[in-house]
Amino acid sequence: MIEREQLEMDVVFVGAGPANLAAALHLKNLIKEHDELIERGRRAGKPLGNLEIGIIEKGANIGAHILSGAVVDPIALRELMPDFLEQGCPVDSTVESDTFWYLTENRAFASPITPPPLKNHGKYIISLSKMCEWLGEKCEEAGINIFPEFPGAEIIYDENDRVLGVRTGDKGIDKEGKPKENFELGVDLLAKITVLGEGSRGSLAKQLMQRLNLNDGVEAQVFSLGVKELWEVPAGNFEEGKVVHTLGFPSDTQTYGGGWIYGMKNNIVSIGYVTGLDYKDPLIDPHAEFQKFKTHPKIAEILAGGKMLKYGAKTINAGGWHTMPKLYADGVLIIGDSASFLNGQRIKGIHTAMKSGMIAAETIVSAFDHDDFTSKTLRHFKEKIDGSWIYDELYAVRNFHASFQSGRWSALINGGLQFLSGGYAWGFMPIEHHVAGHERMEMLKDYDYQGDALAQRYPDLKFDNKLAFDKVTDVYYGAVSHNEDQPSHLHILDTEICATRCAEEYGNPCQRFCPAAVYEMEENAKTGRREIKVNFSNCVHCKTCDIADPYQIINWVTPEGGGGPNYKGM
Ligand code: SF4
Repeated sequence: MIEREQLEMDVVFVGAGPANLAAALHLKNLIKEHDELIERGRRAGKPLGNLEIGIIEKGANIGAHILSGAVVDPIALRELMPDFLEQGCPVDSTVESDTFWYLTENRAFASPITPPPLKNHGKYIISLSKMCEWLGEKCEEAGINIFPEFPGAEIIYDENDRVLGVRTGDKGIDKEGKPKENFELGVDLLAKITVLGEGSRGSLAKQLMQRLNLNDGVEAQVFSLGVKELWEVPAGNFEEGKVVHTLGFPSDTQTYGGGWIYGMKNNIVSIGYVTGLDYKDPLIDPHAEFQKFKTHPKIAEILAGGKMLKYGAKTINAGGWHTMPKLYADGVLIIGDSASFLNGQRIKGIHTAMKSGMIAAETIVSAFDHDDFTSKTLRHFKEKIDGSWIYDELYAVRNFHASFQSGRWSALINGGLQFLSGGYAWGFMPIEHHVAGHERMEMLKDYDYQGDALAQRYPDLKFDNKLAFDKVTDVYYGAVSHNEDQPSHLHILDTEICATRCAEEYGNPCQRFCPAAVYEMEENAKTGRREIKVNFSNCVHCKTCDIADPYQIINWVTPEGGGGPNYKGM
């Protein structure tokens, strides 16, 4: 019997993203306030000052795995820390101008008015990675323990499915599964409350939702993939504080997609493209969509003479209110992007993620005050969400993403009407409820493609590695590294399906939807059969494969701690 070290804490947060960092910091502030009120005799109850709070993070440091556009609405940040600017929050620039472009193949039509949900004037352009690094420092100053390189590998339950904590991943296992010299067993972090804020498609949140059926009675979660580069461009190409969002080229009208360009300090431009992972054509490649986006004359003009500095890709949990799972169970809460707290219409989720964390913190204080960590107390989390501005914001856009599942034109009309009506889904326009993206992918036989598939979907796209980069080059700019002598963290449950049914029916779409060239179909020299090869060390942890695989046979699990991209400064 293996003896694992056990570490007892009171609250464990899994993932050091904006939701959990805000939650942990707010929890510390609330505990201080609670204890002061008790000391002054103005509140009954027991002091909570000695609570042990920990945050575990799979990245090598805080911010290493954090990626976003990003223009942040500071509403939650201001509630957390009214003087966040004075306290050194690393805001890059203030938004000075907003524009919305509709792109055809060769032209850009600037909308005379910016759609109200995309108005960002006065908000902040940030590097979310830098902001999380700063929030992490604030947490440490407040006495919160942060453990980088500690991936949450599995949830620990008792015999009644109550969550008891998290087991972190083992270290030092070779690719055959045998212990190496530096072998270290993962630790059991036991906590009265575990908070899962792992971001989009959290691997523990997925396990928990499946085991406790937390998605019963709600619509399927739906995701998009954002692919981003940071560029340095010549002075004058794109002003600091300028924000552009685009619709149209290169997405087809059946595919949810759009681009962004944000002007940052020192002639740095954040540019990216989002593709809905509920697309139908199995030959769509979200990375190629982004590269093609950059070749549009209006976009290429902005990047002309510049150089690409960094690359990253990450999924976004886009379905919103109707796709929110049950947010609590005995001993556990789910917050942030893991729980669909993103506003798809505004393409913003940092403020809602942070606020969900802060409301979780209030629930946790109340649970400790009542010494009850079961659903009986934790259900108040959902009630508090329903009474907060999160509800007002997300309920009003509850049908936004679903209307895109019927195509761009219906979405534009329906979206406009929804905006005017506070989110009502107009019955005379086709609207589908959220359907899991992988169920919408159509088969090759529904299309006319033959031969080299990618070349046919993107016949004019040339990866010159000056404007349009191939995946392997981009991965280099994502500073991705994994120790190659470890078991693959991408578990394909049945590789026979890859070589047979998937090849025939979908043309192995993992080769295209993965933005990091992880999956390749390679000829087996002995059998002559094309089989799947997994270059797991390229993985940027975007989770697309776990989401988009039409057979749902790819399971993303945490690799050895510290591996993955390095998005510092992205
Ligand atoms: Fe993303 Fe999966 Fe590719 Fe990793 S292997 S980069 S998680 S699609």
